[in-house]
Amino acid sequence: MTRATALVGIGLYIHIPFCEKICNYCNFNRGLLEPGLRRRYLSALGQEIECQRKTGKVDSVFFGGGTPSVLTPGEINELLGRCRLVFDLEPTAEITLEMNPETASFERLEGYLSVGVNRLSLGVQSFRDSELKRLGRAHTAARAIEAFEMSREAGFHNLSVDLMGWLPGQTLSHWHESVKTLIGLEPEHASLYLLELYPNAPLRDEMAREGLTLAPDEIAAEMYYGSFDWLEGAGYQQYEISNVAKNSCESRHNLKYWSDGSWLGLGCGAHSAIDGRRWRNVSDIGAYIERVNGGVSPVVDEKLLSVEERVSEALFLGLRLFEGVDLSKLKGRYSVDVWDRWGSDLELCVEAGLLHRRSEWLRLTRKGMLLSNEVMRVFI
Ligand code: SF4
Repeated sequence: MTRATALVGIGLYIHIPFCEKICNYCNFNRGLLEPGLRRRYLSALGQEIECQRKTGKVDSVFFGGGTPSVLTPGEINELLGRCRLVFDLEPTAEITLEMNPETASFERLEGYLSVGVNRLSLGVQSFRDSELKRLGRAHTAARAIEAFEMSREAGFHNLSVDLMGWLPGQTLSHWHESVKTLIGLEPEHASLYLLELYPNAPLRDEMAREGLTLAPDEIAAEMYYGSFDWLEGAGYQQYEISNVAKNSCESRHNLKYWSDGSWLGLGCGAHSAIDGRRWRNVSDIGAYIERVNGGVSPVVDEKLLSVEERVSEALFLGLRLFEGVDLSKLKGRYSVDVWDRWGSDLELCVEAGLLHRRSEWLRLTRKGMLLSNEVMRVFI
């Protein structure tokens, strides 16, 4: 997978906002699964898909959430069927479904595969039960391993595993154990994040009650650098700040976000980016259903970016990629010289060891990957 192939088609993002249990650190757009609401949401989502205009070739579909794996294979098939009617969905499209381990069963997994899902992204987060419990996750480590192995048996050849580090009370060796378990499973792709605690997260209260703290920044840095070293030693290539892949199994869909690509978001709170236009749907599940049922567009926020905003966004997102950004290509596309526009601020980042410039390529250093927010501020 290269950035060029990621840019060929348009990606569809389909938001499934339901979860069977709400994790205590979660800041995503989601709500508790409730049968009536689920039925009405799926009906509205189907209508929103039908109202779309053809967009050009679609080569990736991503069911994200929430927990898309609360849907049955039949429901996923119904949504994909509507997409096939409206869009030019390529037969070789990457079709990803985010799955929580507790929802996995062999029949369900075989069902997803049979309706066209060809990539699963498993939200594991940790392979230690005490950490999973603290995060309010609904699965155990053993269940996560079982779900992974069942996915393989069912016939999935493109699996991704999410892990989260810098958890309350987590030591470096606990983190190391989780990363080692992930490596032992041999997924084609992995996403490793450090926990970001949003201001009102219930996990904060629990930490205060139990007297738990986060490890110091130096340990977080060791967690970050160490894990990518171990993964590289095991044959993975880091291609983005938080993502590694082997056997060319980078996420085609997610590469569109970082490579100045195009995607159409469907469902509540979904964002879209096509050419210079950016828009998003209303976040609230009920409001989304009401709007679609009433024949009102669910779009609540829309803008046309200026050329400068497009370049700054392309840099902001593109620098997340390990290879960085080709400034000459950006100049060819937008006629903006990045160094003329942001050069003095970028020089400071180069001097601080956060950015590396080589000929027309600009990329984050390893230090810059960990401190990427410092660099991204230049473009905000
Ligand atoms: S499963 Fe994911 S989306 Fe649902 S509450 Fe937990 S973290 Fe949030």
